[in-house]
Amino acid sequence: MIPPIARRFVAGESVPEALDHVRACNEDGVAVIVNLLGEHYDRPTDARADVDAYLALLDDIAGSGLDACVSVKPSQIGLDVSTELFEEYYREIVDRAHELDAFVWCDMEDADTTDDALDAFESIAADYPWSVGQCVQANLRRTREDLDRLVDVPGKIRLVKGAYDEPASIAYADADRVDEAYRENLRFLFERRDRGVAVGSHDPAMISLANRLAADHGTDYEVQMLMGVRGDAQRDLAAQGVDVAQYAPYGDKWLSYFYRRVRERRENLTFALRAVVGR
Ligand code: FAD
Repeated sequence: MIPPIARRFVAGESVPEALDHVRACNEDGVAVIVNLLGEHYDRPTDARADVDAYLALLDDIAGSGLDACVSVKPSQIGLDVSTELFEEYYREIVDRAHELDAFVWCDMEDADTTDDALDAFESIAADYPWSVGQCVQANLRRTREDLDRLVDVPGKIRLVKGAYDEPASIAYADADRVDEAYRENLRFLFERRDRGVAVGSHDPAMISLANRLAADHGTDYEVQMLMGVRGDAQRDLAAQGVDVAQYAPYGDKWLSYFYRRVRERRENLTFALRAVVGR
């Protein structure tokens, strides 16, 4: 069972728990991006099991009428086995989503996987327009050029700052430089697209910039934040009429995800310690 301190960041171990969480978010006007926790499978059977779980989850979401979609990780659905298996499994999931009028996001992992993820996104979005979305990372020096290539692809693009440590030759390390790149990429997306821009950030500065850019350019956008982070802001933005989606993971592999959340910010650590000492 997931201890209460981890439940802040993880929707549960089972699909029914995840769907209960979706229902509660939907009542606050917040959509949910459901992720089954799992990554770096080098055995095809493990990747296949998660693909089957996503297919069943898409059926459950469609059957429930909830406002939710799914997000997969390339190394969860075959990329650590082969590029071909990844694209085959990714297509299978998007095909089901398309049939159900649902939506699939693909997370971006470390920089060794960027080419494979973008190639698959481009090809699958061409066959299933507006059924799929790809995350891109502002900390990577290449992203500005990648956006030139992706700007006309009929799929959504989620811009994040980037969560992976990468060498300085390919990524900005300094937080201010990452913020500058984030702003530059966001401006580009709002200037060049009229829909399908997702602001994957908790940063109030980036969210206000998106709001101003939308007013200037009329681009349809959504704000995406993680479960357990700035929940009040998620509800407030939704109440103001902004499209908000919360990324909510579930599954039995919750421990490493929980540690990652706790390590990345002092607020989260304080929250975890308070829960442990009961204050
Ligand atoms: P930061 O630069 O971490 O913080 C900026 C400001 O935001 C802070 O000063 C504070 O005001 C506010 N803030 C941030 N966190 C908190 C908090 N816990 N409590 C209160 N205020 C806070 N990364 C990937 O590499 N690949 C992915 O596929 C990916 N998908 C993501 C999907 C979503 C929906 C989100 C939200 C993030 C995703 N990330 C992904 C993680 C992302 O790359 C960043 O590591 C993470 O979001 C932290 O950056 P930030 O923009 O939120 O702001």
